[in-house]
Amino acid sequence: MISQKTLRDLVCQQTQQNFSQVDFLFDATGALAAQTPDGVTVAVSTKEGRRDFVAADFLVGCDGGASSVRKAMGAKFEGEGSTAGNLRLLFHSPQFYEMSTLRPAQQNWIVNSEVNASFSGGRSFRDDGDIITATFWNITPEKSSEILADPGPYLWAAAGFEFPFTFSHSDFWATHNLVANRYREGRVFIAGDAAHLHPPTGGLGLNTGMMDASNLGWKLAAYLQGWAGEELLASYEVERKSIGKRVVAQANHNYRSGLPSDFYEAGLLDESSEGEAIRTKVGKRIFQMKNDEFNAPGLVLGYTYAPSPVILEDGTPPEPETVVDFAPSARPGNRLPHSVDGDGVPVYDRLSKGLSLIITGEDTSAGTQLASEARALRIPFEVIELPEATRPLYGAKLLLVRPDEHVAWRGDALPNPPSTILTKAVGLTVL
Ligand SMILES: Cc1cc2nc3c(=O)[nH]c(=O)nc-3n(C[C@H](O)[C@H](O)[C@H](O)COP(=O)(O)OP(=O)(O)OC[C@H]3O[C@@H](n4cnc5c(N)ncnc54)[C@H](O)[C@@H]3O)c2cc1C
Repeated sequence: MISQKTLRDLVCQQTQQNFSQVDFLFDATGALAAQTPDGVTVAVSTKEGRRDFVAADFLVGCDGGASSVRKAMGAKFEGEGSTAGNLRLLFHSPQFYEMSTLRPAQQNWIVNSEVNASFSGGRSFRDDGDIITATFWNITPEKSSEILADPGPYLWAAAGFEFPFTFSHSDFWATHNLVANRYREGRVFIAGDAAHLHPPTGGLGLNTGMMDASNLGWKLAAYLQGWAGEELLASYEVERKSIGKRVVAQANHNYRSGLPSDFYEAGLLDESSEGEAIRTKVGKRIFQMKNDEFNAPGLVLGYTYAPSPVILEDGTPPEPETVVDFAPSARPGNRLPHSVDGDGVPVYDRLSKGLSLIITGEDTSAGTQLASEARALRIPFEVIELPEATRPLYGAKLLLVRPDEHVAWRGDALPNPPSTILTKAVGLTVL
């Protein structure tokens, strides 16, 4: 296990190397103290009782499900909270995987009639054995206390055999079905669990928070650097809240579509041809019910930000929303499909911190023209030439792409005047 101090040292080292403008304050909490049309003031309190005020242009509350920033900006979670309770129990056991037929895995589901449990195992930094998580799903606080009072019999019932272990840590956590009614109030934003809370079934929470940050980060930078307008800031809630709703709905569907013991059937463990037939039937049912929980590229990669005030749609119909199926598409609003340039460099690694014009083919005149327009608007800009063979994938000769890898516009020729696609993509109102 990494100690708090080592973690801090690692974070500080990385921070100094990569983000020289970032100051980390450990053992401190922040609270929105005031907001004016020009900025925000954050009250920072330390563990020792010191209180300072920090003035900033913007505040982003990435402060988790109980977010004080969400409450202070007057937003509310909508939906249903505390839909079920679950217990997570961490233990060390050098013998567990040696004695078990289970292999270390992100999740091992235990389908039996005694406990509703799963194991997640990983290698430990400590020398006292693998660190393993047991999750007991959908249980009451009373049942959780009963398990914690004497976890052995429950862990052994889940594993199917007795093994020695050292108890390390536990937490009783609730599942939720909640999305914030607003992601922004003036100069205050929320992102991550502060904006959406759902069960971990599907492993979608951190991903969704990271994509909130990826959507918002460049917009704040663009606004502060003076090459974007208010509309770009407003687009954050439009683009991310709809995704938050989809993810929360899917994660709750995953939780309801079956937890480990829901798949148990009498006779499942029988060493007989009947037992074998039951196992085949249960296996098929698990695949049928849980495929969209463990295999969801349509949801994770196939989402679109259109319609949005900063996306120029091209008249092609939106693809149907899917969870499992995923067909890369460069329709404006979608995530840019992957390809490589003539030197084999992934297109994502070539994107500008501002806007990028992708040209699929030999004729690069549009790049020169748009680069000059971008210079006049002070928008950081790159032209990326790709082999003509990528055109069928991208569906056009030209694509304007944002730094968060989403397509803002595509077409076979620049519009007249060409700057309209730039100003629209960064929410600039040209007088
Ligand atoms: C059992 C379980 C399994 C999960 N598995 C997965 C998975 O496989 N994949 C996945 O993508 N997601 C998973 N998740 C979800 C994921 O953990 C969360 O979505 C993610 O941690 C949210 O990150 P966050 O930064 O938004 O919030 P948090 O992780 O809650 O971080 C918020 C931080 O802000 C701090 N904070 C709070 N208030 C203040 C304040 N006033 N001032 C300063 N700091 C403050 C908190 O101390 C905390 O450190 C799982 C969640 C659970 C419970």
